[in-house]
Amino acid sequence: MDTQEIMDLDQKFVMQTYGRQPLALSHGKGAEVWDVEGNSYIDCFAGIAVNNVGHAHPKVALSICHQAQRMIHCSNIYYTQEQVELAQLLTQVSPHDRVFFANSGAEANEGAIKLARKYTGKGEIITADNSFHGRTLATVTATGQEKYKAPFKPLPAGFKHVPYGDIAALSQAISEDTAAVLLEPIQGEGGIIIPPDGYLKDVENLCRQKDILLIFDEVQTGFGRTGEMFASEISGVKPDITTVAKAMAGGYPMGAILANERIATGFEPGDHGSTFGGNPLGCAAAKATIEVILDENLVHKSKEMGSYFQSRLKELQAKHSIIKEVRGQGMLIGVELTIECGKLVDEARKKGLLVNCTAGNVLRLAPPLVISQEQIDKAVAILDEALVSIS
Ligand SMILES: *Cc1c(COP(=O)(O)O)cnc(C)c1O
Repeated sequence: MDTQEIMDLDQKFVMQTYGRQPLALSHGKGAEVWDVEGNSYIDCFAGIAVNNVGHAHPKVALSICHQAQRMIHCSNIYYTQEQVELAQLLTQVSPHDRVFFANSGAEANEGAIKLARKYTGKGEIITADNSFHGRTLATVTATGQEKYKAPFKPLPAGFKHVPYGDIAALSQAISEDTAAVLLEPIQGEGGIIIPPDGYLKDVENLCRQKDILLIFDEVQTGFGRTGEMFASEISGVKPDITTVAKAMAGGYPMGAILANERIATGFEPGDHGSTFGGNPLGCAAAKATIEVILDENLVHKSKEMGSYFQSRLKELQAKHSIIKEVRGQGMLIGVELTIECGKLVDEARKKGLLVNCTAGNVLRLAPPLVISQEQIDKAVAILDEALVSIS
């Protein structure tokens, strides 16, 4: 099928929930992808910060193949070696002691909200304006963006929003019934918003003082994306619960709640569950992915190449007044424009570069962490040309 045939069938048979680009992808390798017509692109989006180890990584692919031939799924009614090995590995790479396996970021957050309520016996969850926590009813309510939830009322009760980065507002919002504060350590979907220095540490101190749980949503920032294994390491904050998903299993759908020993006891047998969560195939994919991140030193690479990428983008900023700001951590980079970024995204794609637009005017760059310096240079050159042709 060519791109047009695929788009026609989508138009006819798929629910029209996505604002898609007119591009049908066929395969990828590392930080490069190909469309069904055979054109190649540098992938600076990585499936929304998912393909951190790159496309078609041989170790991840082989691990999935081997596991599929042994057993894909067996339910959580039985133990598997794959699941306990992954749980142990996650406790080694994160600041946490116990794991619950889910299938997506929204599900991980949904479970974290349940855990916080069960553990504290309180109902209220405070989140930030402009945040993004998922599309289920509870997580879309947690999400601090009206456009995502307005059509779906009535929404679940128990959520309060405060401006991101404002410790006084948070302090004021806390009540007798507050169970937890749920924050992204860097707001991803909201436009790559980095909190003011010291804010997250202040939040941690406030939570400790008021005996409230601190939950970090690291669905987008986790697994090396920001130049640390988890973004919490940047601020030195130790949250009670961290939720993860996106890059966790190299593209296989998987999410998890990571919690400290004491908090994890909030869940007792029967309290929470999932049919697919932590099935052997997902666990094999995640274990291989995390091992690749460790073996290939991708966290360090994310930091080094991320700052190289940012410095190259700042050169572009000096040339093009349309670029208002370049900001980011590691390989999670935002380029804020003075205009909406749709045209630039289109122009870049036509020239062989995939980037995403978020929050209307912020280009979001989140390439596979394996991207080479040559590929970054090529991506910057394409953006340069694209900026010229739209101005
Ligand atoms: C993507 C994202 C989610 C939702 O994850 P899904 O897997 O799409 O459910 C939640 N939180 C953050 C910070 C995200 O970036």
